Amino acid sequence: MKKLIIANWKMNPNSLNEAKRIFNKIKIAAGKLKKVETVICPPFVYLSAFPRGVLGKLSKDSPWIGAQDVFCEERGAYTGEISVSMLKDAGVKYVIVGHSERREMGETDEIINKKIKTALKAGLKVVFCVGEKKRDGEEKYLNFTREQINKGLKSVPQKFFKNLIIAYEPVWAISSQKKARADNPESALKMAVFIKRTLLQKIPVLYGGSVSPENAAGFLFKAGMNGLLVGGQSLIPENFIKILKIANR
Ligand code: PEP
Repeated sequence: MKKLIIANWKMNPNSLNEAKRIFNKIKIAAGKLKKVETVICPPFVYLSAFPRGVLGKLSKDSPWIGAQDVFCEERGAYTGEISVSMLKDAGVKYVIVGHSERREMGETDEIINKKIKTALKAGLKVVFCVGEKKRDGEEKYLNFTREQINKGLKSVPQKFFKNLIIAYEPVWAISSQKKARADNPESALKMAVFIKRTLLQKIPVLYGGSVSPENAAGFLFKAGMNGLLVGGQSLIPENFIKILKIANR
């Protein structure tokens, strides 16, 4: 199975020109890697600049495009929101749902659950982010993450699970947090096993949180992760390409 490496650009970069520069560098390298599925999630306004995928508009070698969020309703009077049909029309294949930065802005488990259902029903692949805010010694963080999974996937029909990916991103490990540090492969492995057991399904599990060329191999091969969700380092093409090449080993 190919490793899935997803770039989450967040609200970066600040111009389309810069976005194109980064994208094109990654595209050239990613096109040569046969054991990796590369996905770039730029801000919404740049999506149509990088069409590929479901509409088959561009070369097969181009990375897939993902969105960083989607709205839970399919259409209507929702100022500022973006629908699943709009994403599909822009050539989007993947959508991130439930990122901790959106949860921090008030997104609840109930909203996340609605978004997941809407996106899966539309045929998008959902990258559902979960992860504890802090790590305690008593392993309460395992139950916290299980709760997030159960609430986010409440009454999601089994037939949609084939399009579901879980991204385990401990919030304290995300590089924008004060004193952030990556998790270690041993504890990430424990969480990956725990998530797979919780779901009783063969769902791909990704790791995210301060991934870099230095630690990527540990998460991919020691922890046996199915892929990575990469924030800060995905905006530095040289480093992101190093991560892709490690995943291609
Ligand atoms: C993220 O926020 O999804 C993320 C993985 O960020 P970083 O790699 O910068 O920690």
